Amino acid sequence: MKQYEVAVIAGDGIGPEVMAEGLSILQTVEKLHGGLSFATRSYEWNCSYYLQHGRMMPADGLEQLRDHDVILLGAIGAPSVPDHVSVWELILPIRRAFQQYVNLRPAKLLKGLDSPLRYKGHEELDFVIVRENTEGEYSNMGGRLHSGTPYELAVQNNVFTRFGIERIVRYAMGLAESMGRKRVTAATKSNGINYSMPFWDEVVRDVHKEYPEVDLSLCHIDALAAYFISRPESFDVVVASNLFGDILTDLGAAIVGGLGLAPSGNINPEREYPSMFEPIHGSAPDIAGKNIANPIATIWSISMMMNHLGYRDLGKLILDAIEDVLVEGKVRTPDIGGRATTQELGNAINEKLLAHA
Ligand code: ATP
Ligand code: MG
Repeated sequence: MKQYEVAVIAGDGIGPEVMAEGLSILQTVEKLHGGLSFATRSYEWNCSYYLQHGRMMPADGLEQLRDHDVILLGAIGAPSVPDHVSVWELILPIRRAFQQYVNLRPAKLLKGLDSPLRYKGHEELDFVIVRENTEGEYSNMGGRLHSGTPYELAVQNNVFTRFGIERIVRYAMGLAESMGRKRVTAATKSNGINYSMPFWDEVVRDVHKEYPEVDLSLCHIDALAAYFISRPESFDVVVASNLFGDILTDLGAAIVGGLGLAPSGNINPEREYPSMFEPIHGSAPDIAGKNIANPIATIWSISMMMNHLGYRDLGKLILDAIEDVLVEGKVRTPDIGGRATTQELGNAINEKLLAHA
């Protein structure tokens, strides 16, 4: 019996509602496999915790998480707590401490759903975006000068390291190889940004030499965004810096049907530390407590977690179960055109998954 330790941070708003459905999928996975068990441990670190304690997690919070195999996160954020607190004091410290330098987001149109692009080929709209998660444009370096004068200015430094670029590009190339899909597109802007992006291109090309089977193209971010809309079928793996990846992943989620569906992984490929899986949506205060949040993004994140742990067959079964329910079309939450509750959709997926046993 292989046991995995899973830290669960359900979080705020719809986080606990969708997480409950995700955890019941995990129980079904245990039933299906027989030799697998998940020891889940819940951490009530959220905005209510912050309002009580003045911090998002205890001082030794990261220590408490460290020994787990994986972390599952629902959603963090509440109208009463500024975003920079909830993000900077919980999510970013976890990503950084645990070297989760890969932010992985599939852009895959599920069977049974329509893309807002009215795209027909479900087989074809299926690619993965690999976003660098630790450096690049989102740095703490820079400053502001001459406030209150006509010469007021701000400078923001981008930080790109050879080490950081190499490891994210290697991950993307390795992923393309392991998926048996050979195209890697790297987002750039070396025609407008003079230092960091030419460096990025150079390192991307250097790493590519280690992967002769992979077909690499470098594409300027402006054109790339347009191609996401005009020919999304032309991508297999897209690799991008922190800022470009941030923008592309939201665009990727939009073209495959929206926030209620989109999963993500914050991955430490070396498995030295726990990786974290989470739906990309936020706490959605507008629908919290109404039992109408779509649990698919969370359940799909659990499918990604299974892939990460090395159980690709189980990861696929979970995704198949989601698609079976969508193709049937009977049980859908309001965001995808139905009237079902969060639990009804979660139960329907669970039943399909059990049927695969
Ligand atoms: P945050 O600051 O926490 O990121 P946000 O308002 O920026 O919050 P979301 O919380 O993701 O972003 O919500 C954006 C919109 O998408 C809201 O109208 C919300 O109701 C909807 N939404 C988000 N997640 C889901 C879901 N799982 N099911 C249905 N609707 C959702
Ligand atoms: Mg948001």
